[in-house]
Amino acid sequence: MKRVLIPYKKKVLLHKFVTFALFLAFLAVTCSGCSSPNAKISKSDFYFDTVITITLYQTNDASIIDECFQLADYYEKLLSNKIEESDISKINAAAGSYVTCKDETIEILKKSITYSEASSGAFDVTIGKLCDLWNFSEISAETEDHKVDASFLPDRKKLEECISHVNYQNIVIDENRVCLLDPECEIDLGAIAKGYIADQMQAFLLEKGVTSGIINLGGNIKTIGPKADHTSYTVGIQKPFAPTGESLIKVFLSNGSVVTSGIYERYFTVDGVIYHHILDPRTGYSIENDLASVTIINQCSMDGDALSTTCFLLGKDAAMEYIESLADTEAIFIDTKNQIYTTSGLQEGTDYQILQ
Ligand code: ADP
Ligand code: MG
Repeated sequence: MKRVLIPYKKKVLLHKFVTFALFLAFLAVTCSGCSSPNAKISKSDFYFDTVITITLYQTNDASIIDECFQLADYYEKLLSNKIEESDISKINAAAGSYVTCKDETIEILKKSITYSEASSGAFDVTIGKLCDLWNFSEISAETEDHKVDASFLPDRKKLEECISHVNYQNIVIDENRVCLLDPECEIDLGAIAKGYIADQMQAFLLEKGVTSGIINLGGNIKTIGPKADHTSYTVGIQKPFAPTGESLIKVFLSNGSVVTSGIYERYFTVDGVIYHHILDPRTGYSIENDLASVTIINQCSMDGDALSTTCFLLGKDAAMEYIESLADTEAIFIDTKNQIYTTSGLQEGTDYQILQ
C-alpha cells in the first residue's frame, strides 16, 4: 500500500517551521524575562531535524553566533545517520568492519552504552532501522491532526526483523575504531546527540567570554548564566498535546540544562491509538506507559538528553528511583492526565511553578 501525503510535505514542513520558530522566539523572550533590556542577538535555523535557536546577551558580536551555527553544521555532518559521510553512516554502512571515528563520536557512543546498561537495554542507539521503519518524523510533519490510516503502521514481519538487529552489545569500541558485530545493525543518535552538541556549544561560548545566553536545540535547552540582572531564566515545559508554546510548568534556573522527552510532537494515531517515537526495543512498538513527558534538569545536557529518553522508557516509578540515586539531577514527570510528579530535590515556588 502506497503512502500518499508527499506532495504537501514541503508546504506543511514550512508551516511547521514558521510556527515552531515563532514558538522558539516566544520561548526566548520568556527565557529572557520578557522585559529584559539585555537581549542582544538571536538566530534560528533548521538542524538535527528541528529548529535550533541561539540567543546571546551582553554582546553584539554576531560572529560568535555564526560560529555556533558552524558547530551545529559540523556536528550534524559528524553524527547524523542521514548524512552519508558522517561517522555514524560510515559505521552503519561498514557491514561489520572497523571504522575510525572522531573522539566526539566515541564519547557519545560510550555514554550511550552506559545508559543501555543502566536501563537493561531499554535505551539502545542501535535502534536505527526500527526508527526508519516507523518514520515518525516525516509522517507527523505531513499530517495536520496526526491522524493516519492503518497503512502507515509498519509491517509486522519487517518490525520483527528490525528488532532482531537492535542490540547495543553489538557496538565494539577499540580506541578510536568502532564496529558493529551485526552488519544489519544501525545506529541512530537521536536520543543523545542534541544534548552533547548543546554542551559543546556552551563550552565554545564560555571560551569566547559569553556570560549570558540560551542554547535551544529544539527544546533541548542549555542556559549560560546568571542573567545580567542576576535573576534566573524561566524555561517553559510544554503542556502535552496542547498548542505548541502552551506551558504547563515554568522551571527557573540560572546555569544548566533542561531537556524534555515527550510524545506529543513526533507521533501519529491510528483509530485513536497513539504511536510515538520513543520505541521499546523489546516489542518494536512505542513504549507503553502513562507518561506524556519527562524533563531532566542537571548540568550536562548529554546526560540530560540520554536520561530523559531512558527515564521515559523506564516508566515513572523506576525512573524516579533512578534519578533519586543520581547526584545533581532532578526530573519532572507529566503523565497523560497532566498529573505532575517531581524528584525530591525540586522545590515548588523556588525551582518551578505549575501554571494551571
Ligand atoms: P527528541 O529527539 O524529540 O528530543 P528524545 O531525546 O526522547 O526526543 O529522543 C527520541 C529519539 O531517540 C527518537 O526519535 C529516536 O531517534 C531515538 N530513540 C527512540 N527509541 C529509542 C530507544 N529505545 N533508545 C535509544 N534511542 C531511541
Ligand atoms: Mg533524549
